[in-house]
Amino acid sequence: MIDLHSHSIFSDGTDTPEAMAQAAHACGLTALALTDHDTLGGLDRFMAQQPAVAPLLVPGIELSCRFMGRSLHMLGLFLDYRDPVLIERIQRMRVQRLERNRMMLERLRARAIPITWEEVTAEAPTDLISRTHFARVLVRCGAAGSAKDAFQRLIGDDGPCYVPFPELAPAEAAGWIRQAGGVAVVAHPGRGFPRGFRWDQAMLELKGVGIQGFEAYYPDYGPVEQRYFLDLAKALDLIPSGGSDYHGGHKPGIALGVGGGSLAVPDEVLARMQKLRPGYTDSVC
Ligand code: AMP
Ligand code: MN
Ligand code: MN
Ligand code: MN
Repeated sequence: MIDLHSHSIFSDGTDTPEAMAQAAHACGLTALALTDHDTLGGLDRFMAQQPAVAPLLVPGIELSCRFMGRSLHMLGLFLDYRDPVLIERIQRMRVQRLERNRMMLERLRARAIPITWEEVTAEAPTDLISRTHFARVLVRCGAAGSAKDAFQRLIGDDGPCYVPFPELAPAEAAGWIRQAGGVAVVAHPGRGFPRGFRWDQAMLELKGVGIQGFEAYYPDYGPVEQRYFLDLAKALDLIPSGGSDYHGGHKPGIALGVGGGSLAVPDEVLARMQKLRPGYTDSVC
């Protein structure tokens, strides 16, 4: 069993990269990918664990994109995370995220929610600050009853204090990933889009701009949804990927590998991805 989607303290998870590599070993995974949001920051520490653990550690990222007016996340798996061009691109994104975070703080303060920049940064263990960290401060100061409430009333995509940062076009994200030797995979289709959204048409379009797969295994998919995405991947000749989207204590009830308990991403997904990587040759001798 494999898990190709997880987060550490370098974005909005609560576990260190080392702890996650060790946990993957302890629960007997064949592979684990670390895919923090818009950062490569945890990958050196994660990959340094490789000789000490049995599962294959896969360097990854989850890039924030905008597609048809909504947020779409794209995973880059098997990236060369030391690629200077990729590092520079991610760094520029980080500056834009920082500016948007400051604007969100102003919007909250304008609504008489007196949280400070220091409180928000104190919530984040590294310099990548996301709305998850805002949500925690809002709960702590009593402006929201729960993180869910904070997103629903204030900072969710449709909330009054949300400020988008310039997210990537899917073609751009897929290009960044593939130029760094990675495999481009759309994360959790079906989430963040309206019911009845035509994923069949969307995936065909996204395939045209360079995506190579999408998640067909995800903790909160029901059997019907999983079947739909598996069939769609087959029909479009795209790889059906999957993972737990583990965030440690920030997403209670989601465990590495098994998600809510019944997630099971088969090992063969990994083999298919490895064949797609640049420079792959079938050894015939
Ligand atoms: P950001 O990248 O800073 O815009 O924050 C996006 C992150 O916020 C996502 O990766 C989720 O972890 C979290 N998030 C977004 N919308 C919601 C929601 N409605 N409920 C809970 N968490 C959310
Ligand atoms: Mn997240
Ligand atoms: Mn995501
Ligand atoms: Mn994720």
